[in-house]
Amino acid sequence: MSAATIDGKAFAAGLRAEVARRVALLKERHGLVPGLAVILVGDDPASQVYVRNKGIQTREAGMRSDEIRLPATTGEAELLAHLHRLNADPAIHGILVQLPLPAHIEERAVIATIDPDKDVDGFHPVNVGRLSLGQPGFVPGTPKGCMKLLAATLGDLSGREALVIGRSNIVGKPMAQLLLAANCTVTIAHSRSRDLPALCRRAEILVAAVGRPEMVRGDWIRPGASVIDVGVNRIAAGGGKTRLVGDVAFAEAREVAAAITPVPGGVGPMTIACLLENTLEAACRKAGLPLPE
Ligand code: NDP
Repeated sequence: MSAATIDGKAFAAGLRAEVARRVALLKERHGLVPGLAVILVGDDPASQVYVRNKGIQTREAGMRSDEIRLPATTGEAELLAHLHRLNADPAIHGILVQLPLPAHIEERAVIATIDPDKDVDGFHPVNVGRLSLGQPGFVPGTPKGCMKLLAATLGDLSGREALVIGRSNIVGKPMAQLLLAANCTVTIAHSRSRDLPALCRRAEILVAAVGRPEMVRGDWIRPGASVIDVGVNRIAAGGGKTRLVGDVAFAEAREVAAAITPVPGGVGPMTIACLLENTLEAACRKAGLPLPE
């Protein structure tokens, strides 16, 4: 059996088009333009690419995009002052601080300063609490995107046995919360878990968010499982070149699974698309409007 490839790239393009359509309606009916501000501190090359792509896709969706680039020497107080200004700016509905931050800035203080109602990354403790309580809030883009791919692949997830490998605050934990909210039976594995292959073999839904290239082997996968590979790992590809692989050995896993996301082109593109959707929702909530149909 060869698994169906879950085409996250196409799915994300569809979601971005849907967001753009609603943004246009919001503008036309209410004169409201959602605004997203992204702050980048320092010059980490991967973060620069990511922030540039966010800006491009935000503008393509018809939204306002503010990019604030600050030097690596920026002090915490100065960064917090930018956040206070953006919190008070009525034209800005979503605020995102690109992580990681330079070591001299405390990430926790920065995230806690963002207005929870503008926290479109869903990292503020208030939004983390809302997710765990089942209240409306903002869900981080990567796990939100994974859930959309699973829903499109499987429909109702109720009662399914799900395993999330990884317990980070940005992927593993919110992913587990979302699967629980969708009535899955959820197991969270991490670096101290015993017999990971046996845990994997039980999972009808397997989400790998570890950061270890091709760690999950084909014979760990339950036949017919749906596999969501969040990992992004750059490995040597010979001739001085590199290539991206996930946390799952794709060629092996696709012989056993029913559906699997590729890397690249699976989960990755969903993150920004969901961030845009969160920004649209933030603008509508602030204005007390439903999402335009
Ligand atoms: P973290 O490093 O924060 O977390 C990794 C998790 O994997 C930890 O919980 C860790 O366990 C667990 N882990 C490490 N080694 C093992 C092991 N041998 N067996 C079982 N569990 C293990 O990573 P992130 O959650 O931030 O990211 C995970 C991956 O997803 C990365 O490759 C990252 O690049 C990718 N990513 C992709 C995104 C996208 O596509 N848009 C967005 C975000 C991340 P412990 O807690 O015990 O240390």
